[in-house]
Amino acid sequence: MKGKVYLVGAGPGDTKLMTLKGLECIKKSDVIIYDRLANDKFLKEAKEDCEFIYVGKKSSNHILPQDMINEVIAQKALEGKIVTRLKGGDPYVFGRGGEEAEVLYDEGIDFEIVPGITSAIGGLCYAGIPITHRDYASSFHVITGHLREDEDKEINWNALANCKGTLVFLMGIGNLKHISDRLIEEGRDPKTPVAFVSWATRYNQRTVVTDLENAYEVAQEKKVKAPSLIVVGDVVKVRDKLNFFENRDLFGKKVVVTRARKQSSDLSEKINSLGGKAVELPVIKIEKNDDTELRKEIENLRDYTHIVFTSRNGVELFFETLDDMGLDSRVFFGVKVCSIGAGTSEELMKRGIKADIVPERFVAESLFEEMKKTVKSSDRILIPRSENAREFLADKLKEICEVTEVFSYKTVIDEKSREIAEDVLKSDVDYVTFTSSSTVKNLVEIAGENYKELLEGKKLVSIGPVTSRTIEEFGLEVYKEAEVSTIQGVMDVLVNDK
Ligand code: SAH
Repeated sequence: MKGKVYLVGAGPGDTKLMTLKGLECIKKSDVIIYDRLANDKFLKEAKEDCEFIYVGKKSSNHILPQDMINEVIAQKALEGKIVTRLKGGDPYVFGRGGEEAEVLYDEGIDFEIVPGITSAIGGLCYAGIPITHRDYASSFHVITGHLREDEDKEINWNALANCKGTLVFLMGIGNLKHISDRLIEEGRDPKTPVAFVSWATRYNQRTVVTDLENAYEVAQEKKVKAPSLIVVGDVVKVRDKLNFFENRDLFGKKVVVTRARKQSSDLSEKINSLGGKAVELPVIKIEKNDDTELRKEIENLRDYTHIVFTSRNGVELFFETLDDMGLDSRVFFGVKVCSIGAGTSEELMKRGIKADIVPERFVAESLFEEMKKTVKSSDRILIPRSENAREFLADKLKEICEVTEVFSYKTVIDEKSREIAEDVLKSDVDYVTFTSSSTVKNLVEIAGENYKELLEGKKLVSIGPVTSRTIEEFGLEVYKEAEVSTIQGVMDVLVNDK
């Protein structure tokens, strides 16, 4: 079988700036070869058995020399593999993509190029700088700042200085003095605005604005480092109005998400989409219990008047067992379905079940108050729930009628997080979010004796009163508690915390 190589532009960093075609290539590849500027989040999208090869690449510190990169690409394709060579930005903008493709041509290897959004344009956009603008620039030039001596001669500095268009230098930080000196010498106005955009489109994007004559000093002073774009031109002025990205609510904020790995994506996604960086430290893991008892009660469901779900997991596992038994939601016929809150109801809705009873506040106390209004002594209630959950609801309902609890699952510590917990908590995170009491207990357990020290200075955000109580029981301080006990409630705390 003949292999094939896709040279894919991954865009400037924000993973959502990858093209649909690029993503398609990642999903079908046997081998992915990537470097520092291609966001490694994409690797999650690859096939399970896909091979990943990191080939580094920092402007002056190539981990694999270019000819070896070329060789690896060719060799994998000749083995008959589908290969994606993932490159930051656009593959043909200073990425040596042209050379890589030529090697493939020479070797007779089938290839396709998937263009990407170049940092030279997309990166500027996220810094609030339009590369052209009718009032300021009617052309643009993208120039490499990483110049060999012979290349420097090739650049017509006089033309660049006098063209009035926007100049964007890539790989130029190390050569900044030379660049700004040459432009001024050749007649560019020393007061021309200059912007440095580092790690453009990522959560840690940083923009520094100055002018041409001060560019070098300011870059030194503000410690501007690669990868950065250098933008020279009046378009930089528009940034004051167009800087949408850095003005988002959570821009630059790092938030630890302690929910179970499987459930964290909802919160993480919300944080990331508002400009923050979700750091996932899943401290709980859901473990399914033996379902013999649950199966028995499902068979007897007709004898019950109510079924109560107190978590998304409870719903998910119930339906898994139902499915294994060859049954579906018709088993609920004649049974009132009660849900503790929004997330649980949503999970039920996904299966076409609209809960009959949902309390106003999403806690057990509130659900009990609501159920108390209609539950009679002749009723029978089934509660499939977590072994570790609170007893409150079952205990109170038992005072009224017959209640059967089935421990369909338990939450345990996610052992994988032990190794990373200390590093995560020692890093510069701003918030730690707790979405249940078990996230608190398990984080404390994982963090060990020094947990107070590790959490010092971090803002602890709680989803509701029960979780807050657990935080306080460990001698920690709740920074803020969500007004509504939902993931959105936690988000609201973060967003409104100015
Ligand atoms: N093919 C890439 C450029 C590769 S050269 C593209 O089209 O974007 C590498 C240089 O690109 C870096 O030194 C830096 O100047 C620039 N660069 C790439 N991604 C960047 C980012 N996210 N933020 C700032 N500069 C970036």
